[in-house]
Amino acid sequence: MIIDTLRELVSMPSFGGNEVLIADYLVAKLQSHKTHRVVVQNYAEGGRNVLILPPVPRIILDAHLDTVPPGNLENWTASPFALVEKQGQLIGLGALDDKVNIAIALELFETMDCHQVGFVFCGGEETAGDGLAFALKSGQIPAVELAIAMEPTNAQVITAHKGVGWVKLVFRGKATHASTPEKGENAIEKALRFGEYFLHHKSSLIKQHALLGSNSFNLGTINGGTVPNVVPERCEMQIDIRTLPGQIEADFGAMFEQLVKASGSEAEIVTEAFAPAMDYSGKSKWLNKLRDLSGKETSTVTFWSHSGFYEAAGIPSLVFGPGDIRSAHQPNEQIAVAEAERVLGIWREFFKYI
Ligand SMILES: [Zn+2]
Repeated sequence: MIIDTLRELVSMPSFGGNEVLIADYLVAKLQSHKTHRVVVQNYAEGGRNVLILPPVPRIILDAHLDTVPPGNLENWTASPFALVEKQGQLIGLGALDDKVNIAIALELFETMDCHQVGFVFCGGEETAGDGLAFALKSGQIPAVELAIAMEPTNAQVITAHKGVGWVKLVFRGKATHASTPEKGENAIEKALRFGEYFLHHKSSLIKQHALLGSNSFNLGTINGGTVPNVVPERCEMQIDIRTLPGQIEADFGAMFEQLVKASGSEAEIVTEAFAPAMDYSGKSKWLNKLRDLSGKETSTVTFWSHSGFYEAAGIPSLVFGPGDIRSAHQPNEQIAVAEAERVLGIWREFFKYI
């Protein structure tokens, strides 16, 4: 059953901001159910969320509708949209991340008592979680006891991960002919002044977390100027920040404003994306049950998930799902049939406790 559903899900492309096909499929499949209401949200043009909610849910299972683009089709052994079953593996775009989890969620919904379980299927996860951010802001997601982001964790319960933020700094100058640089203002020089200061001081911005290690900064892009014989009027820098639990968007805006000022430079600071970290520490109620059923100790992951948004909204969250994240975002993405079925079995047992 999971395989048939997964085949249908994989056949519906859901990348590049277009999740209409897969959202319509879910609505058609689920709207006749009497126990849950179906909420469809258009969070952007082509971007869809489908929420399946009972009157009073205690738990939410979350799986995202979107995938990354297929990339170079020559690297795929078959069409990314035609699920191939080969030596016990199911191969296709999104087969692992995250459509196997949608298939598992649908199977649970069809076959188990779900009167206290809500299902959240949002788009935009691969582009900073736009869909879930919209859904949480809309007030349609109730304050449940636990939300589980169903993602590839090798069926290990994940209790913490870092967050991610992108900050853009725009340095502005005044263009003039390179033969009279004193009449202009060089935006690249302003950026370099800041860059130098940042490299010297960034170690003082590092904090430690017991499970996750330290936060980090990556100066990822610098773009400025047009031709060598014009004083550049604009230079941009983008910095990727991996955050620790408790570090929020506002902290980084203020931090970069201070850094720019201290460097003697001037820049406009834009937060391009911010997705918070997650840490379930100190709560054990559902964690112990899921961990015992998984048969593995809890762990952390290096990737970001929807869990961060849930936790920021005051909803305790964990990450759990079948398969190895290393196969995600790759050609011939795959999930083992046996692993998917084993995790479905774990969920069936877990549902008995709800
Ligand atoms: Zn994912």
